Amino acid sequence: MTLVPTPSVVAPTPFPTPTFVSRPILPPLDSYTAALAGTWNSKVLTNLGPAHERLERAIGERVGAGHVTLWNNGTVALLAALSQLDLHGEVIVTPFTFPATIHAIALLGLTPVFADIDPVSMTIDPICIAEKITSRTSAIVGTHIYGIACDTEAIARLASDADLRVVYDGAHSFGRPAPTFQADVPSALGDVTMLSFHATKLFHTVEGGALVTPHADLNRRLRQSRNFGILDEETVTGVGLNGKMSELHAIMGLLTLEMLDEEIARRALVAEVYLERLSVLPGIDIVAGTSPARQYFVVRVKESQFGSSRDDLHTTLKSLNIMSRKYFYPLCSDIDIYSSHPSAARLPHARLAAEECLALPFYGELSDDDVHRICDAIEWHARRVREA
Ligand SMILES: *Cc1c(COP(=O)(O)O)cnc(C)c1O
Repeated sequence: MTLVPTPSVVAPTPFPTPTFVSRPILPPLDSYTAALAGTWNSKVLTNLGPAHERLERAIGERVGAGHVTLWNNGTVALLAALSQLDLHGEVIVTPFTFPATIHAIALLGLTPVFADIDPVSMTIDPICIAEKITSRTSAIVGTHIYGIACDTEAIARLASDADLRVVYDGAHSFGRPAPTFQADVPSALGDVTMLSFHATKLFHTVEGGALVTPHADLNRRLRQSRNFGILDEETVTGVGLNGKMSELHAIMGLLTLEMLDEEIARRALVAEVYLERLSVLPGIDIVAGTSPARQYFVVRVKESQFGSSRDDLHTTLKSLNIMSRKYFYPLCSDIDIYSSHPSAARLPHARLAAEECLALPFYGELSDDDVHRICDAIEWHARRVREA
């Protein structure tokens, strides 16, 4: 379709610099360097030092359930978690996620088997999981996409019936208010849940992640596997890797953690403006950003009502220096290395979500005026395609 601007519609002014989908919270540089003084004195830079221990305790309190280990990033944490569950054969997983979820399965020589998502929640659908369970299945991996919780109770029932392990990619979930993972619902964590503390996430340690498990024995094995499988000076108990978070990262985490509630409150205000402006636009469904997770603000562009595809809207926004992101596109089951598996063939709900979802700029420093300008740009695009 050609887009013909009509004289009645004035084009919005582009943002002078790119407006990204997320911006990291950062403490004042002075506070970071001041907090590093102790590290410089002690010369303890890593290997589970005092800042690491403080942050691990603080994250544990914030999560409010299970046992917590800190890791150097979310992907390594997920890999370690899967490796400690003695899995074999096939792992049923959502295709609508970031590639790291699938890579962690494949890196262990396991076969990712895709199950479609629920069309509304966009999380892995228990009915579709049930259809994919065979004698070769050993685990289910779900992603709490945009912080929207998987149907953890139904998944726990399926897992218990078929004797499967359950792992959650909770990379987007940390912002949920305490008790983050419903301490009173034992199935909510699965066997283990991963959190990512990457710089693009709501809470971050530059690079970092965590695992939360309800099982004390699994937690013990995870701790050892984080440090090469070493138990003490002369004992190596199992296969391990280097998953340790450094003191420099942990100190960043201690400072950004103090800023987290204010960031969540600011994002709530940004979400209110988006909600007020975008909920009246036909063909724009708001699917994330208004819930407590506050990781992303995501709309689904329904082409038949909106008048344009998600991709055309993305291109228009880019031309105005608004860097929205197609989270999560391409669909993981469409990536060449995974697309030949038979389970990748028919995933209609996941495919539609990957074609329709668009994450808009969402971070505390966005001003009211910025958000209104982004909404003006979306309205302008909609008007232009209708009049074309
Ligand atoms: C960010 C992210 C990851 C990867 O986490 P890292 O800490 O960057 O390794 C995995 N899964 C999802 C859904 C993510 O968004």
